[in-house]
Amino acid sequence: MHANKPKHSQAASTEVVRDINRRIILNLIRTRHPISRADLARVSGLQRSTVSSIVEQLIEERWVLYGATGRLPRGRRPTFLRLNDERVIVGVDIRPTQTTVALADANGRFISQELLPTPGDPEVAVTALIDCIQSIMRGCGEKKIEGIGISLPGRFSAASDRLVFAPNLHWGDFDIHTPIAKATGLKVEMENAANACVLAAVWFDLVDDCHDLVVVTVSEGIGTGLLVNGRLVQGMNAMAGEFGHVPLDPEGPVCGCGSRGCWEVFASNRAGLRYYREAGGQESDLTFADLLTRADEGDVAAAQAIDKMAHSLGRGMRMIVAGLAPERIIVVGDLTRSWHRYGPVIETEVQRQVLPGGCPPLLVPAHEDGRARLRGTIALVLQKHYGVLE
Ligand SMILES: [Zn+2]
Repeated sequence: MHANKPKHSQAASTEVVRDINRRIILNLIRTRHPISRADLARVSGLQRSTVSSIVEQLIEERWVLYGATGRLPRGRRPTFLRLNDERVIVGVDIRPTQTTVALADANGRFISQELLPTPGDPEVAVTALIDCIQSIMRGCGEKKIEGIGISLPGRFSAASDRLVFAPNLHWGDFDIHTPIAKATGLKVEMENAANACVLAAVWFDLVDDCHDLVVVTVSEGIGTGLLVNGRLVQGMNAMAGEFGHVPLDPEGPVCGCGSRGCWEVFASNRAGLRYYREAGGQESDLTFADLLTRADEGDVAAAQAIDKMAHSLGRGMRMIVAGLAPERIIVVGDLTRSWHRYGPVIETEVQRQVLPGGCPPLLVPAHEDGRARLRGTIALVLQKHYGVLE
């Protein structure tokens, strides 16, 4: 299943090829800088002339700068290329209780990060968000802000810019995009959080050899982002990937979507907290991060609650495995903090019912710094320039 595929041979016959090649070159410069054109051609397998024309364009757009001149044997002196650190991106990760606003460079390195509460009133929330972004903009000095990437705990309509489905946010069909774009004068890109995490995996985790992967975000709800045959799956009305709202038990607890017994009411952070409360842990203001800490510190009921949640996560993933047969499932969420403990529980559940002829996916936690969703917002802006996935 994880056989070595020719890494950069997906170049096809459409204009998308150029975008793919641009991403490959930019990513090579990003990860290996300083690097010469000759090395770019050698590592990418692309024609020297193709590399040169892409590099010229990247330099013209100021994504890439000339660095030092190298010294090689026999008198050759190649010019090394490096990424322009002065191009920055604002990333906004909106979650039902808390919003994170960060500034990062095109390398996905975070320069600053701020936390805001997420108010129930969307107008109040957007006003606070604009204040925060404008203050970041004032502090940017000479750096050029390329755009704003926003990840949402739900779906929005690209036609109207309005939220269409965000059952855990309760903002109604509000337009977040227009006021932020107007107030900042910047391009604003929005995407479902799980989809943004797929983009981050493609951009920053260098999964070029993996064309079928699924990201499962586990937080207040459960989201999934689907990369199938190297493309992000959007579906009708961009609603694809709502596995979290597939009912697993019609008699189960009521879900935010109005249905009963959806996967997320059994396997989200909220489910973990509910299991803990049901076992006698009464505190209503306990966060999931607190629950994890308690489990780590030896609270048996807390560990059992999270364990139950992990079993449900794994059981629900069987839908994804049976339906899409991904090579990889990347899990994003607080739970990954204690992956050594709960990862194997999820994995065992997934493997329990692999179909004859099927192959269990590689199950991996997202980058352990807890910034997978934020990295997604940065990738969102980057991919608009190098639109490889659409
Ligand atoms: Zn639901």
